Amino acid sequence: MTQTAPTGPPRVDEQRRFASLDPRTGEVVAHHPVHGEAEVRAAVEAGRAAAAFWDGLGFDGRRARLDAWRRLLVRRLDELLALVSAETGKSADDARTELALVVDHLHWAARQAAGVLGRRKVKPGVLMYNHAATLEYRPLGVVGVIGPWNYPAFTPMGSIAYALAAGNAVVFKPSEYTPGVGVFLAEAFAEVVPEHPVFQVVTGFGETGAALCAAGVDKLAFTGSTATGRKVMAACAATLTPVLVECGGKDPLIVAEDADVEAAAEAAVWGGIFNSGQTCAGVERVYVVDAVHDRFVGLVAEKARRLRPGGEPGADFGPITMPRQVEVIRSHVADALARGGRAVVGGLESVRPPYVEPVVLVDVPEDALAVTEETFGPTLVVNRVADVDEAVRRANALPFGLGATVFSRNRGDELAARLRCGMVSVNSVLAYASVPGLPFGGVGDSGFGRIHGEDGLREFAYAHAVTRKRFGAALDPMTYERGSRTMRRVLRLVRLLYGR
Ligand code: NDP
Repeated sequence: MTQTAPTGPPRVDEQRRFASLDPRTGEVVAHHPVHGEAEVRAAVEAGRAAAAFWDGLGFDGRRARLDAWRRLLVRRLDELLALVSAETGKSADDARTELALVVDHLHWAARQAAGVLGRRKVKPGVLMYNHAATLEYRPLGVVGVIGPWNYPAFTPMGSIAYALAAGNAVVFKPSEYTPGVGVFLAEAFAEVVPEHPVFQVVTGFGETGAALCAAGVDKLAFTGSTATGRKVMAACAATLTPVLVECGGKDPLIVAEDADVEAAAEAAVWGGIFNSGQTCAGVERVYVVDAVHDRFVGLVAEKARRLRPGGEPGADFGPITMPRQVEVIRSHVADALARGGRAVVGGLESVRPPYVEPVVLVDVPEDALAVTEETFGPTLVVNRVADVDEAVRRANALPFGLGATVFSRNRGDELAARLRCGMVSVNSVLAYASVPGLPFGGVGDSGFGRIHGEDGLREFAYAHAVTRKRFGAALDPMTYERGSRTMRRVLRLVRLLYGR
């Protein structure tokens, strides 16, 4: 708890390199080049030839390579774990959780791609009975991926693994805070696909990301803040480059009267504090029905008080990765307290850069920053509501709509259905992110498009539809030979089939 906090963002040296820093100590982890427009464009160009090679391998060939990559990553897991912890500061267990999910998703994407995207027959319908219809999903070409630092492997791999499984080449720009993790993933991939640069990494700051948006990629998959998401979308609009935008959230957890209160308290504490609260779909707001509120707050306080951040691998959670986020967290806590909220665990004194100790706030006005804006720290706002209807209303009141959690023994599915967001976990927290078959993504200010699952594979492909005429039809309306008798018969058939 006594290490020096990094003093600012990494700087560029004479060789146009920047350093990634360990947020626990401020020590340099490694240097990486600042790639400019020309280098980014060259990577995308090289990716184009590589994409043709990769597409040519077919589903089976790609699966074999992706499986080999997965096995290599598993063999080198300890190395990758250490690197994730060094660049983000996260505890060993938080890094393990992240990487276990990376491997599971990579396995799923490689295995399912053929079934989801491969050519299949489609029923041609009654009017087109003489045609065979088929559909397949083809790769887009070169996909640009821009990722954040909070889950430097799991989050971008939600795009990278699925885009590769769909047959695309990828150029990845990791966050300036976690470039080494991106480089590690790409170097491991190159060991199992040495022929062409199918998966490349470009490093640098926001400008490198902006260059990727303008470099002629066939799709840009962005994960990061809503503010940067807007810039990315605007940049991509100039070239009509399609975008996938996964942005921030302010995810609610609802505790109903019939909830297992002990389990709900545990979920709120873990969901709000693990990874130092730096989770896009982490729990930030809790709405608890009056009848169980006081017991819930007591349990949350007891559990949260036991947790300590630290730089040692066995710490409960690590530091705040991005130095300027500390001020955001401090301002949210100060604003909540100034508006009449109460801290039942911690308070402003909990903010001790680079660490923030757990803070649990209650009775916070709904227009306070700690309720309306993403805090991204180990803080929780717990507010009392009269009933679940009020909880749902408040949960749905923000422009964000990423994920949500519901604790209720009997009404979980009903409440989940009423929430305006991309994913809901009932009686557990964040479970949806660990099910590779489920799509992940938000609505509103949380973005659009989906990673993971079948939708996540189709996100990186375009539909290619083909009909083949098998024999001449008695009634063919699509020729000038049709005659008005044919058309009258077709209409009679339509009335018969669809008019009742
Ligand atoms: P940022 O928006 O600051 O950055 C995201 C990425 O965009 C970084 O690689 C960044 O590069 C790059 N970038 C910055 N400016 C530009 C630009 N003008 N054009 C193109 N790229 C640019 O987000 P953070 O890295 O701080 O990540 C945290 C955010 O990510 C939170 O809001 C969190 O909720 C969200 N997130 C969302 C997830 C989801 O799936 N919905 C998952 C995980 C996180 P550089 O770092 O070099 O500036």
